[in-house]
Amino acid sequence: MARTKSPETIAAANGIGLDQGHGAVTPPIYLSSTFAFAGFKQAREYDYSRTANPTRSLLADTLAKLEGGAGAAVVASGMAAVDLVLATLAPESFVIAPHDCYSGTQRLLAARAAKRQFDVLFVDQSNQTAFGDALDRRPALVLIETPSNPVMRIIDIRAVAVRAKAAGAKVAVDNTFLSPALQRPISLGADFVIHSTTKYLNGHSDAVGGAVIASDPADAEQLAFWSNATGVCGSPFDAYLTLRGLRTLFPRMAYQERTAACIVAYLERHPKVAAVHYPGLGSHPGHEIARAQQTGFGAMLGFELAGGVDDVRRFVEAVEGFTLAESLGGIESLIAHPATMTHASMSEEARRVAGISDSLLRLSVGLENAEDLLAGLEVGFSAL
Ligand SMILES: *Cc1c(COP(=O)(O)O)cnc(C)c1O
Repeated sequence: MARTKSPETIAAANGIGLDQGHGAVTPPIYLSSTFAFAGFKQAREYDYSRTANPTRSLLADTLAKLEGGAGAAVVASGMAAVDLVLATLAPESFVIAPHDCYSGTQRLLAARAAKRQFDVLFVDQSNQTAFGDALDRRPALVLIETPSNPVMRIIDIRAVAVRAKAAGAKVAVDNTFLSPALQRPISLGADFVIHSTTKYLNGHSDAVGGAVIASDPADAEQLAFWSNATGVCGSPFDAYLTLRGLRTLFPRMAYQERTAACIVAYLERHPKVAAVHYPGLGSHPGHEIARAQQTGFGAMLGFELAGGVDDVRRFVEAVEGFTLAESLGGIESLIAHPATMTHASMSEEARRVAGISDSLLRLSVGLENAEDLLAGLEVGFSAL
């Protein structure tokens, strides 16, 4: 029997060496919008690139294999991926979303709900009573994000999925923060996996994109139908870049996680740091669940300065090696101040409930040398 390929091999080699035309080792990029019919009434596998395109299909196939799904749709952004899942909802549907979900997801859900396209409730899914009450309303969809942004709260995917399914809901997990290298939600009971491929999957901060992977073939067909019907598909060029980035997903993740652990250890000891949020820490409230459902703790972390907002300004102005920017998951290290950047559109009260203090900073750890990054952080601390 043929050996099942390991995920590392799929990421590195899916589609390699299959070119029939010239024996190209790297799969060629197909930018053509349209494809010739072989003859009258003889459409080939591809006819028009909105519907399907060979370069985009290879990325979709690779992602479906990595996540263990039946099929995938590759779309123009992570937000388009969330919206594609919403497009599959029947009229009058009720959706449960995390109370601390990605701000763009919160905005999309609230804006569509305001147009009565469905009802949405934002719930702390680790609060069993609140979640149980929400499930009594028979949701069609439960959306999970774990780890959450930016305090890295962990949700038990298997436990939430069991309860959601018993209530008749489908389960979608936004897996952007970990990627299939560290977490495979379908194996834990999810029906859909959502990605902003902009982040770890592409990993080079040079393309915006998204994907949805479906566990069930009928759901995968629905995704393909809606992607074609709405025209939200990703461009072949972006798919090519993303596939190129995806080839090194596993070694990038392993290296970035190792460096993140060094930084966490340094921050934990630092007298000017009041708290560190990283699921790899034994003291993190989600540590045990993260250990059970993830194969690594990732390279995203949050930490709080002991001083106030003035210290935050001094720190981000002085720190070296980390660029002050939104987004995450690239080869370059970034620092963000959620209260004034990624989460600025939230009310102060909503930020407080989500645990986002004004002195919280978020790091996305890249591929630079760990000692260089530690030295750069120390420059920031010496300015306080
Ligand atoms: C960035 C992000 C999104 C949105 O993705 P875009 O590619 O920016 O549209 C959705 N969910 C999470 C968790 C994200 O980090």
